[in-house]
Amino acid sequence: MAPSKTAPRRPKGQGQWKLGHREPLNPNERSKRDDNPLNVRARIENVYARRGFDSIDPADLRGRFRWMGLYTQRRPGIDGGRTAALEPEELDDEYFMMRVRLDGGSVSVEQLRALGEVSQRYGRDTADVTDRENIQYHWIRVEDVPAIWKLIEPLGMQTTEACGDCPRVVMGSPVAGVSADEVVDPTPAIDEIVRRFIGDRELSNLPRKFKSAISWQQDVAHEINDISFVGVEHPEHGPGFDLWVGGGLSTNPRIAERLGAWVPLAEVPDVWHGVVQVFRDYGYRRLRHRARIKFLIADWGPEKFRQILEDEYLGRKLVDGPAPAVPERPIDHVGVHKQKDGRNYVGVAPPSGRVSGTTLLAVADAAERAGSDRIRFTPYQKIVVLDVADDRLDGLIEDLNRLGLPARPSTWRRSTMACTGIEFCKLAIVETKERAIRLVEDLEKRLADVVPDVPISLHLNGCPNACARTQVADIGLKGQIVTDAGGNQVEGFQVHLGGGLGLDSGFGRKLRGLKVTSAELGEYVERVVRRFAEQRDGDERFAQ
Ligand code: SF4
Repeated sequence: MAPSKTAPRRPKGQGQWKLGHREPLNPNERSKRDDNPLNVRARIENVYARRGFDSIDPADLRGRFRWMGLYTQRRPGIDGGRTAALEPEELDDEYFMMRVRLDGGSVSVEQLRALGEVSQRYGRDTADVTDRENIQYHWIRVEDVPAIWKLIEPLGMQTTEACGDCPRVVMGSPVAGVSADEVVDPTPAIDEIVRRFIGDRELSNLPRKFKSAISWQQDVAHEINDISFVGVEHPEHGPGFDLWVGGGLSTNPRIAERLGAWVPLAEVPDVWHGVVQVFRDYGYRRLRHRARIKFLIADWGPEKFRQILEDEYLGRKLVDGPAPAVPERPIDHVGVHKQKDGRNYVGVAPPSGRVSGTTLLAVADAAERAGSDRIRFTPYQKIVVLDVADDRLDGLIEDLNRLGLPARPSTWRRSTMACTGIEFCKLAIVETKERAIRLVEDLEKRLADVVPDVPISLHLNGCPNACARTQVADIGLKGQIVTDAGGNQVEGFQVHLGGGLGLDSGFGRKLRGLKVTSAELGEYVERVVRRFAEQRDGDERFAQ
């Protein structure tokens, strides 16, 4: 019988496993169902590394390789105006970007030396500090991947699940365990999550990527992670962590929601696991652009999310908890700071996170000379050397300065970040890293007479994906092709003004028509900053 015209239409499934939608609804889901992405490791070791790039199955190349921290990099010479028009295979180079996940952003001198060595031997001396505390290489050949794993894995570092639809690096405070402002060091929880769940096949097929951050201090951009635990004192239960879920940027930015739950340190790994399972089972798998956990939170709200987490996954109620107080300024750890044990940590600013293997080796030497065995990377693309005694400080600062890593950088060097951009990224429309470096030099000259006593962050992004956090910068720049005064199509940026985290948590305003060409960038930023300095009301912040 033909269905009645008035019969209610069945709601379209969103591919949520828990509701019975197990049949893959798009090619990515099919690829993950057909073969667990973690299986690609054996094929890299046994087949692809021996037979070379041309032997790689396309489903592995553009899909499962990510679970091993590998993306093909952009073929050189393709301009950004053509990015969207080309097929993936036309954009693919036969070299790879490789990401080493450094959970907690933490390395020893020995580990840092190994990272530098990999870069020199296999990555043409490239290395970028990412804004998720990873190290990223370029120019990696598939033939060299097993040798790289042999170098880094015995030292406790890995590329497993550094990319892909899985739990990516767990960010932690760069000064966890040493900061005088910290009440509980969450490092044991980060270590336990990595030990129990990274490389776990039960969690290796999530609807999309899953980003985590755990810190007592609010120094890990917790508002824009899929899950965050932020330190808070409970009036009855004492110190623990406030649970946030569902933040993220890209084309549908969303600030994470508090679930209103207080979690003691010992329970953080299990609660983290529960949230990942909710995402795995209820996350939307029909459309890739609606698959992040933020869409589930947007539809359910934090109350329903918490109830499902408690009833179906934890089997108990969480303790209600208060919100943590918000710090007045972003915490980037640049400069010299006292540790709780009386020694010091020194934060330095590589230009937009760009270093090299040679620089990493030299930082390892400098840290060792200063008596330190602990180096940390930060969510602001910075490097911090811990445990420096007073009498070693000057020597270390001089050493790092000679490497182009100032501990007292200009405002502009300190608060500028850039994503990978067109040099290597296949999705990019414009150049970012080198442009950011030149922009900083330009602003240091243009604005030598204006030294704002509030940070003004500048984030350059090569496309709408916002890897360098376009929408939460004071001046966020999203790469696109724009028309210049002469009517030519040139590289430029859509400007987002007044975004921020912490006290100014929110997204910058995208002013209609506010686009600048790359060539005009220095002049534009100078104009904005001078206007802010002239019209500023008292101690008003840029984003206010
Ligand atoms: Fe690539 Fe775009 Fe991310 Fe930049 S923002 S790294 S261009 S995807």
